[in-house]
Amino acid sequence: MWAKAGGDIFRVARVRHLLVTAIVCAAVLVAVAMGWFSAFDFALRDMRFSMASRPASGDIVFVEGDAAAMARAGSQSRARSVYADALDSLIDAGARTVVLDVGLQGALDYFDDNALIGAMTRAAGRVRTVATEVRSSNASRVLNMPLDRFAAHAPPVYVDAVGGSQRSGIYRARIVNDGWVIESLATALSPDHSISRPSFLIDFSIDLATVPRLRLSDVIGGSFETGLFAGRQVIVGQASYSQQSSHSVPRYGLLSTSALQLLAAETVRQDRALSDMGRLPAIIIVFGMALLFAFLRPRMTLGSAIAGSLAYAGMLEFTALAMQVHAGMLLDTAGIHIAQIGFLATAFWHELEARGRSLSHAARERDSMRGILARVVADNFDGVVVVDHNKSIRAASRLAEELISPGLRGANIGDVLPAPFRDALEAALDSGRMMEAVSEVAIVCNGESRTVEFVVTLSDVDAGEVSAESAGRVACLTFRDVTERRQVEHRLTYLAQHDPLTGAASRVKFVETIGALLATPTGRGRGASVYLVGLSRLKTVNDTLGHAYGDALLKQVVARLELLGPISVARLEGNGFAVLREGLLGDDGGMAFAETLIAEIIRPYTLDEHRAIVGARVGMTDSNLSGSAPDALVSHAGIALSLASDQSGNRALAFTKEMDTRIKSKQDMEIALRAALAREEFSVHYQPQVDLETGEVTGVEALARWTHPELGSVSPGQFIPAAEETGLIIELGRWILHVAAKEVAGWPRPVRLSVNVSPLQFEHGDIVADVRSALDISGLPAERLQVEITESLLVTETSHVTEKLKVLRAQGVGVALDDFGTGYSSLSYLGRLPVDTIKIDQSFVRGLPGDAEASAIIRAVLMLSESLGKHVVAEGIENQDQAWLLRLAGCKTGQGYFFSRPGPAEDILAQMLAAEHDKLSSVMRLG
Ligand code: C2E
Ligand code: MG
Ligand code: MG
Repeated sequence: MWAKAGGDIFRVARVRHLLVTAIVCAAVLVAVAMGWFSAFDFALRDMRFSMASRPASGDIVFVEGDAAAMARAGSQSRARSVYADALDSLIDAGARTVVLDVGLQGALDYFDDNALIGAMTRAAGRVRTVATEVRSSNASRVLNMPLDRFAAHAPPVYVDAVGGSQRSGIYRARIVNDGWVIESLATALSPDHSISRPSFLIDFSIDLATVPRLRLSDVIGGSFETGLFAGRQVIVGQASYSQQSSHSVPRYGLLSTSALQLLAAETVRQDRALSDMGRLPAIIIVFGMALLFAFLRPRMTLGSAIAGSLAYAGMLEFTALAMQVHAGMLLDTAGIHIAQIGFLATAFWHELEARGRSLSHAARERDSMRGILARVVADNFDGVVVVDHNKSIRAASRLAEELISPGLRGANIGDVLPAPFRDALEAALDSGRMMEAVSEVAIVCNGESRTVEFVVTLSDVDAGEVSAESAGRVACLTFRDVTERRQVEHRLTYLAQHDPLTGAASRVKFVETIGALLATPTGRGRGASVYLVGLSRLKTVNDTLGHAYGDALLKQVVARLELLGPISVARLEGNGFAVLREGLLGDDGGMAFAETLIAEIIRPYTLDEHRAIVGARVGMTDSNLSGSAPDALVSHAGIALSLASDQSGNRALAFTKEMDTRIKSKQDMEIALRAALAREEFSVHYQPQVDLETGEVTGVEALARWTHPELGSVSPGQFIPAAEETGLIIELGRWILHVAAKEVAGWPRPVRLSVNVSPLQFEHGDIVADVRSALDISGLPAERLQVEITESLLVTETSHVTEKLKVLRAQGVGVALDDFGTGYSSLSYLGRLPVDTIKIDQSFVRGLPGDAEASAIIRAVLMLSESLGKHVVAEGIENQDQAWLLRLAGCKTGQGYFFSRPGPAEDILAQMLAAEHDKLSSVMRLG
């Protein structure tokens, strides 16, 4: 905005500059045309004439009438006889022409006139009288002719004796009177230098003082150098130069008519008739200068404009002088000089105005900058307090006033600022050194303790930027309330290092503590042991008493562990804790301590009016077994714990190298499984499920098979757990589902397909979508598909597993509970399970027919299932007795080697069709 305004201002100024230049030019031109500067021009001419002063030719001699000569005559009226004597004397002395510039108009004394006529006659035509033009009483000009008697002997020459200003120096070369041309005195004296112009300008540079000059009395008395008048022209004047009617002329001021005539005569004699160039040159030059000025001035500094003008004026004067001297031309330069002065004045004015403008522009800018700065300070996001060298507050941001106190401006820092701020500001102002880094302090704001970080900076402000009294050193305190940020940081640090529920250390903190312990020489010397504690049955507490009690129990666990005096107790996961002790397991009775740990944890917990018991397993290691890397210690203890957890009871296991090897082989297995999936080394075998009444194949169970290129066939008992541990089971399970559905859908008999589904497929995979896509792609009706789940899925029952089972069942897909009886499910629980089919585990069937307990359980299951409307399949039927007994007990479906071993689809299909053939006889045999 300012730039635009500035641009406008400068454009306006430029136009004004042109306008003023034009006005100055026009005014000067008018003045020149009107001749208003002629006084100045005359002064310049005076100067030039004086400068170019030149001597008279010496050819013209002036004889002035003096008092002594008049005394000879007796009176003025008798002067003509004196002139007659002088005339004789001059003619005798050889004068070439004598002009009697004396009054010869009126008739005076007869004898005197005769004497003069006699002298004139003797002079034989070498005498001239004057016809003098004077101003009459009525201000008109009259020409006084000499009396004819004189004129007859001495023809008159014209003399202009009208006194007054002759400053222009115009001299008429001749006049016409009564039809007669009368030559002027000057031209008449030098007929061979004749001037054709009617008038010319007298050259006043001719020095009058160099004209030979004598007094009339001396001429009459003969007291003059011999030869002085020889061949010379002589003018006899009535009086001295300054007497008679006076003419105001350049250089000389007042001159007598005779002296003026003398100068004119010398002018002609020396061919110095000057001419006036008139006003036109000045007008043209002024006009040209105006153009030049208008164009150049904005591109020049004032200094160069002045220097240029001075040089120009000098040159102009030099030219004028040179023209006068060498060409006889008079150039009037006053108008030009005045114009130049006018232009310079314009330039001055323009410059002053520009300076004023830029000053006011700068002032405006400073003012608005001040305004902006005040705003910036006031609205600052931080607390800002600006303090001057007198330690008084000059500005404060809104936030500063909110945090410290309102109305900070103008107050002394000692009165209002908290001590840390005041001290820092005073130190900075006194020492002249800024704070090197941001500081953090606690101050009380509005009665509340706040943490603020602050810094003090210094600026030196000089008087050019602000008013004089504000100039000097200024300190700026900037502070920021970081209370909340620090609280959050502390909280985050705490959370990173602690378990928010129990306050025990976090895994990160625990690992750090191990590192710190083993970093000390004593710690390294004594070693460290790590105990990982896994809680069991915590889920039962949560399920039965609720999570609040579960949480309370966990807190008590931590409290009990801490009472044992370890270096650190950490909660690593939901039900996993870690304990760090100094010393090695062997030296310090590690096993005894682990048993103490278990004993402490399994002690019943009192939770309000409830009591709860949890199990505990411990995995442990020390820096001797696992090295001093904290992560290795924790992970080795974890391996030991997981192996302890695989075993029943509350056990403690110390880490051994073999455990690590086992883990390694698990990793190898994972690599092999991935490769197998990629190389399609898996296949699906089917085991028929047979109607125990009819022998008809009603369904098949799909079973995964892996043929390793080197190891040959690997049992599912080996690779399925490995696939589950590594999570690959999700991908493998999906693959089997698709392959089996596709194969069985193409069979000519509509048998039901059972597919084993791992809990992981429920928990981490999307089993519903997998089943859907398998059905869609294969075209197998949902009713012909059944998923087999294990009890563990239902034990760790979560709502989303139940949800998924419901969705599957709603779509028509059957759900079978595999390996029933091996897990935790009690018979009473059976009714609530979201399953259609129960598969009695082969461990029960194997006991048949001898094992009474097994057959009792089977019978009970069968009875209950029937009453609950659930279908039962007996697994692992290996002989006819078992089949027979089960059928008798009411079991409808059986599966086992007795009917068929699992086999590839084509084998099973062939068997099925063959069996159909023998169906009748089979039934007969069973019957
Ligand atoms: P399961 O689901 O209980 O499968 C029955 C197992 O019993 C099969 O062993 C089968 O070959 C075997 N079997 C059948 N009849 C008899 C018999 O008369 N006597 C004896 N001793 N065994 C019999 P397999 O194929 O080795 O599978 C073992 C387990 O691996 C399966 O037990 C199942 O839990 C799991 N499994 C197999 N295939 C898959 C699969 O595709 N996915 C999942 N998640 N698990 C699978
Ligand atoms: Mg099964
Ligand atoms: Mg089974």
